[in-house]
Amino acid sequence: MTEPARILVVGGGYVGMYTALRLQRQLKAELRDGAVEIVVVTPEPYMTYQPFLPEAAAGSISPRHVVVPLRRVLDKCRVLIGEVHSIEHAKRTATLSTLATEEEGTGNIQLTYDELVIAPGSISRTLPVPGLADYAIGFKAVEEAIGLRNHVIEQMDIASSTRDPALRDAALTFVFVGGGYAGVEALGELEDMARYTSRYYHNIKPEDLKWVLVEASNRILPEVGEEMGKYAIRELRARNIDVRLETRLESCADRVAVLSDGTRLPTRTVVWTAGVKPAPVLADTDLPLNERGRLKCTAKLTVEGVEHAWAAGDAAAVPDVTSDEPGKECAPNAQHAVRQTKVLAENIAASLRGQPLKEYAHKYVGSVASLGLHKGVAHVYGRKLKGYPAWLMHRAYHLSRMPTFNRKARVLAEWTLAGLFKREIVSLGSLEHPRAEFELAAAPPKKASDNGPDKGPADGPKKGPASG
Ligand SMILES: Cc1cc2nc3c(=O)[nH]c(=O)nc-3n(C[C@H](O)[C@H](O)[C@H](O)COP(=O)(O)OP(=O)(O)OC[C@H]3O[C@@H](n4cnc5c(N)ncnc54)[C@H](O)[C@@H]3O)c2cc1C
Repeated sequence: MTEPARILVVGGGYVGMYTALRLQRQLKAELRDGAVEIVVVTPEPYMTYQPFLPEAAAGSISPRHVVVPLRRVLDKCRVLIGEVHSIEHAKRTATLSTLATEEEGTGNIQLTYDELVIAPGSISRTLPVPGLADYAIGFKAVEEAIGLRNHVIEQMDIASSTRDPALRDAALTFVFVGGGYAGVEALGELEDMARYTSRYYHNIKPEDLKWVLVEASNRILPEVGEEMGKYAIRELRARNIDVRLETRLESCADRVAVLSDGTRLPTRTVVWTAGVKPAPVLADTDLPLNERGRLKCTAKLTVEGVEHAWAAGDAAAVPDVTSDEPGKECAPNAQHAVRQTKVLAENIAASLRGQPLKEYAHKYVGSVASLGLHKGVAHVYGRKLKGYPAWLMHRAYHLSRMPTFNRKARVLAEWTLAGLFKREIVSLGSLEHPRAEFELAAAPPKKASDNGPDKGPADGPKKGPASG
């Protein structure tokens, strides 16, 4: 019996999940006959719908509902929870680790393939800012969104109970770096949530909270165009949010955010959303990369100059054939990612069947962004919307894009319930340390003399925004 042709999909995000899903539909007969096998390697058993992360942080959507379980959706594929570390395409071999290889201590394993789909997406693009690695947090994963929500509410609890005014000010200062949709939406949603939550604190008023958006260029939300970007700035400033354009974060060492305009802000919260860069695994392949580290691709979504390698999404530099500007690439966003997967899956199936390939062509139609509950901004198909209509459009658009009927229904149900009841203000920060209470219970009793006079457990060095 001949071995099935193996299609290896690296990454189970937007592109990885949708490509595998479309392939398992297109290659139904081949999968059934054992002529083809699809293997998806990804670090998490779920796909994250990133545009809903700000709403998850605000508590409008439960974290479980912004992710899609890969095993359920990709029931005809083999899902391997692990990470690809390098790819030698000339030998059609990927080197990877799985949860099991880590437990067994046997080292990485090698997986051979016939067709390769590379979709590891991107990671936060950081700069060598002192203190950034120690104190800041990104906003790309569901864990970060939930950690940040818990952290913001925890800071309000600290501010409410401390007698130290400096600690109170630092706890109530929230600095966001980067004015793209991730930063603006995260800030807009969290500020809105914290403003609402403050009504349940006897000693915190909304104006005590200081929210700062730091953006290096002279505009925010370039995705919605200049006019709507300016509207978003006015809307945020009207909410007392300090929007600093043409300003950079120079340091956040020792929990003090130092800006390029000289401002020093003691803070316990720095959220870094200043752009993305391609996933590091791409540098460990024998495939061609452009100057920004994205895979050089053709409009047919093949990797340039090699056979049997395909890519799309944030990791791929796909020529934008609809643009008059020579050399223009498709921007790294979900709008391209999801549309590219359709052409990608069709082309892989066509190539296996010896049929001609199609080109990917999609003209960017604009964008929608939420600025908090009932507030938004949109510029889509030439139409500009702001306020409530834009926010509604944002919700309708993303609901339509959310994968699977199951998740769409759950998100819609949550929005409906949220409209009937009061907002959720609970913080479950202790979820991040589930064993803490039991460890305390199981630990041998300590003598009072073991602790110095001033040193309680809360005095230990704590780092990172989620640790408070
Ligand atoms: C907060 C936020 C809001 C956004 N809002 C919008 C929006 O409103 N509109 C819009 O168009 N776009 C938006 N985006 C961008 C959009 O989500 C991305 O462009 C899209 O997810 C890219 O899809 P992808 O498959 O290339 O990458 P991802 O969806 O990031 O998937 C990559 C996957 O690969 C996995 N992976 C990484 N390295 C490896 C490895 N070595 N081995 C195996 N697996 C690996 C990752 O864990 C992940 O599962 C937003 C992004 C964020 C963070």
